[in-house]
Amino acid sequence: MTFEQARACVLREVSAGRGSLATEQIPSLEAAGRILAEEITADRDYPPFPRAARDGFAVRAADVPGELRVIGEVRAGDVFRGSVSAGGAVEIMTGAPLPDGADAVVMVEHIERVGDRVKIDRSIKSGENFNAQGIEAKHGSTILSAGRRLGFAEIALLAMVGRECVTVYRRLRVAILPTGDEIVETGQQPEPFQIRNSNAWSMAVQVARAGGDPQILPIARDNYESTREQIEQGLTHDLLLLSGGVSAGKYDIVERVLADLGAQFFFDRVLVQPGQPLVFGHIGSKDRGKFFFGLPGNPASTMVTFEVFARAAVELLGGATEAPLPLLQARLSKDVQHKTGLTRFLPAQVSADGSTVTPEPWQGSGDVNSLARANAFLVAEPDRESWAAGEMIRVLLK
Ligand code: AMP
Ligand code: MG
Repeated sequence: MTFEQARACVLREVSAGRGSLATEQIPSLEAAGRILAEEITADRDYPPFPRAARDGFAVRAADVPGELRVIGEVRAGDVFRGSVSAGGAVEIMTGAPLPDGADAVVMVEHIERVGDRVKIDRSIKSGENFNAQGIEAKHGSTILSAGRRLGFAEIALLAMVGRECVTVYRRLRVAILPTGDEIVETGQQPEPFQIRNSNAWSMAVQVARAGGDPQILPIARDNYESTREQIEQGLTHDLLLLSGGVSAGKYDIVERVLADLGAQFFFDRVLVQPGQPLVFGHIGSKDRGKFFFGLPGNPASTMVTFEVFARAAVELLGGATEAPLPLLQARLSKDVQHKTGLTRFLPAQVSADGSTVTPEPWQGSGDVNSLARANAFLVAEPDRESWAAGEMIRVLLK
């Protein structure tokens, strides 16, 4: 499968195969990054009154240009008890309610004050410089729907309508299963021929960032019994992510174990680099079964394939209605060449202003150092061989 086909496959299968989700109530201020599980409606009109958008004078638009008599003042947090009749004006501050009778606000910069009178030279349209009651949201209308990820503006909306607590989907429990005889736990001193388990940590951070609850399992060894036992353990969670053991080597037995457990495989190879040997499938009945990903073990492959494929599954299975993967464009600062046939995600540096992108030197899929220096990936399309400095190229922010 191509990158696009594989991604479409993940979105399709996961959307079709997700079951009902448990919910929980939490303080809204702690809900950043969580997925809303209820509909939020406006508890009154917003703004709740016609609200001045400028400091100036509340007038009847039909009276200007002209000279008007100032009959009072209204500030934010107060209300003018009278009303504006022909030839009258009320001094008004931003955020204050427009007095009855007025239908526009003349900015203070556009008047000349003489005693208790104001001279206004220019005309104004009815409705200018204030926000009509209910123009932002009508009482009872939906302002947030279930499935929305909560960020700072959404949480401001919860505060605005007085919701101190909110119902969100329970975090998806995601099992992270590292595999490999050469892998040791992070706290251990590796022998010269061993390496520490870094993938479990990068995956845990990526899962948490996608809104999931990462559960790191002990390393499965490259033998049938250990791998099977650990995979069965992993399948008790909501989603299983494996790292390693899915290439074509003699000891890559993950796929065999999954097949023996009755897995349905949607794909086991994708035309991307890093990350070609990538497995995605489902085990068990359609409504109660589990999805799994076998991510290739090379750290860059694990990180990239999580980001472009597995992340969407964590988001959608976690209740989100959308799993965006924005590929932006930036101008290349140097020439880039690659072999056609695969979609490549190459570590890169996007300039601080976002305008240009520079490939980061890297030594291949094991080079975690290069990935840590990078703040983005260049996305090299499979049907094109080269890009010249100055050309636009697609970029995925890290
Ligand atoms: P595999 O996909 O099992 O063939 O592993 C490919 C490469 O990734 C090997 O060089 C492994 O040593 C490395 N690798 C596999 N799992 C991990 C891990 N959990 N942390 C760091 N590197 C790993
Ligand atoms: Mg391995």
